[in-house]
Amino acid sequence: MSTAYYSHAECRLHDMGAGHPECPQRLDAIADHLLATGLDVALDFREAPNATLEQIERAHSASYVLELQDLLQQVELEGKPRALDPDTIAGPFTWRAALRAAGAAIAATDDVIDGRARNAFCAVRPPGHHATRGETMGFCFFNNVAVAARHALDDRGLKRVAIIDFDVHHGNGTEDIIAGDDRVLMCSFFQHPLYPYSGAVPKGTNMINVPIPPYTRGTELRETILAMWMPRLEEFKPQMLFISAGFDAHREDDLGQLGLVEADYEWITRQLVVLADRHCGGRIVSCLEGGYNLSALARSVAAHLRVLADV
Ligand SMILES: [Zn+2]
Repeated sequence: MSTAYYSHAECRLHDMGAGHPECPQRLDAIADHLLATGLDVALDFREAPNATLEQIERAHSASYVLELQDLLQQVELEGKPRALDPDTIAGPFTWRAALRAAGAAIAATDDVIDGRARNAFCAVRPPGHHATRGETMGFCFFNNVAVAARHALDDRGLKRVAIIDFDVHHGNGTEDIIAGDDRVLMCSFFQHPLYPYSGAVPKGTNMINVPIPPYTRGTELRETILAMWMPRLEEFKPQMLFISAGFDAHREDDLGQLGLVEADYEWITRQLVVLADRHCGGRIVSCLEGGYNLSALARSVAAHLRVLADV
């Protein structure tokens, strides 16, 4: 069975302005590298549908979803960008991109559960893991991974899922949404201290938060993952894995100071594939979060995809 690769042209149109690191060229860099390396032939390209508001409300409050819809549709009509916070800027295409990004994660979840794909990667923008139940934050509008995990649980009848977050920043939005939901085990590492300066004290017993000091290298991180994540994941026996796949812990990424390289992303992905094969029938849905050095991002996504697609 195949590895599905979900994306949509509207995800590229979301634009937070010149010089913003979360830029449309991130998706181009990934797509170009897949073509240049021939890895594209190993993937099954699929177009992201729109998420419905009801699906998004599995992870966000109805009032937040409606207010954001009003605001983003107004921005779409006016054609002028508006800053929602110093980092997060809505533009004329943000609403459409946000629906596609969450829709990709949901469609990928359905494909993997229904056997139309072995696993899936969503090359989407905007990212999601800083979006809380009721707030945009840190380049994020809807929490794509949390929406998809809740879809698997609430709409598709799964009993236990795990969320793995290897972005350099703490996934505070995902934690806000799923802390205390014992159907979900969330395992993350993140540079600490670093934006959003949370996570050192977990908000729930279903969170394995591992703060990592700046300048830690991949080899040390691997030992930490084996010690802190894997025993809890083995014990939890998730039926499906969701990955918040941020690649900004890469040595070449200027938004963080960790020292991962492509081989580390390959290693982490391999651990997760082996775990998923053992407990989940291989079911993994991975969604792009951060990663801002275009070359390092493209190479790291390729390393991640090579393991997912087993090529
Ligand atoms: Zn990040």
